Amino acid sequence: MKEQSDGAEPVTLVACNAMRARFEIALWGRDPGTLRGAGQEALDEVRRIEAQLNVFDPASEVAALNRDAAATPLQVDPRLFRLLEQALALGRETGGAFDIAVGPLLQAWGFRGDACRRPSPEEVEAARALCGPNALVLDEEDWTVRLTQEGVSLDLGAIGKGYALDAAAAVLLECGVPGALLHGGTSTVVGLGTGPDGLPWRIGVATPGKPDRSLVTVALSDAALSVSAAHGRLLIEGDEQWGHVIDPRTGSPSSRCALAAVRCASATESDALSTALLVAGEEMLAALSERPERAEGLVAIAGEDGALQVVGPLASG
Ligand code: AMP
Ligand code: MG
Repeated sequence: MKEQSDGAEPVTLVACNAMRARFEIALWGRDPGTLRGAGQEALDEVRRIEAQLNVFDPASEVAALNRDAAATPLQVDPRLFRLLEQALALGRETGGAFDIAVGPLLQAWGFRGDACRRPSPEEVEAARALCGPNALVLDEEDWTVRLTQEGVSLDLGAIGKGYALDAAAAVLLECGVPGALLHGGTSTVVGLGTGPDGLPWRIGVATPGKPDRSLVTVALSDAALSVSAAHGRLLIEGDEQWGHVIDPRTGSPSSRCALAAVRCASATESDALSTALLVAGEEMLAALSERPERAEGLVAIAGEDGALQVVGPLASG
């Protein structure tokens, strides 16, 4: 934890590791003691959500669903219930490109373990049959979740960091923090209020393969930005490589776009939508463009010569 000052209001930094990523919060305001307390409370919320969503922790609610909810419906924390509901709605909105039931495909491609591998077409088909919107049923009467087949496996990896950042930002607002910048693993960033200079926070999106070169700079004030990219976890075979974001409609890792980014009011939504945009590319960009007040996006596509073409309303910053 650090405090920095450039002559304006002091900036306090707090951080923790969660969801296999570094979460950092920079806050500014009059009283560093209050800021530190607010920042720590916000990080506690991130840790609470990690403990609830982590599929690799047998004690988490999502792991319990994956283990037991095909045999018997399980009651979950109402907040998790609402998140699952929202995730299903985002799945519908993106035509199935975003799918929280993608677990069996991640398993088949080895993205859940240490070794990635290329599955047979039969394995892909078997996994695909377990994915999609019909994999789970939510019952609002008693807050229960049922998985419709043995082998269904939920994965909140594409929405969890954004959801945790929204929850953390809500804590900061309750504490009266006038401005803060929060990120989880740099893939989702929330700009609360303005920076200490009174201007919107400005975030550079790194060019894939050239981390010190900005593809575009995006302004954030009470808004979130998420970036999804094929790099990171990769299966490499000869000249071919596959990233850890899978198109549930084909069962294969998406390969069309090198990077997708979405800015909108909610980090939960920007996180899910950027993953979906990486999968669905320009087709979804066109759909997003119909409601620019809700979300704006961009995709970067590598041409024949390897040069990146950046398209979408967010491309201009
Ligand atoms: P993100 O970095 O937010 O784009 O999320 C990528 C992670 O989401 C992957 O590592 C998987 O855990 C999960 N995932 C992969 N493909 C999908 C998909 N089509 N829909 C939802 N989650 C996915
Ligand atoms: Mg995401």
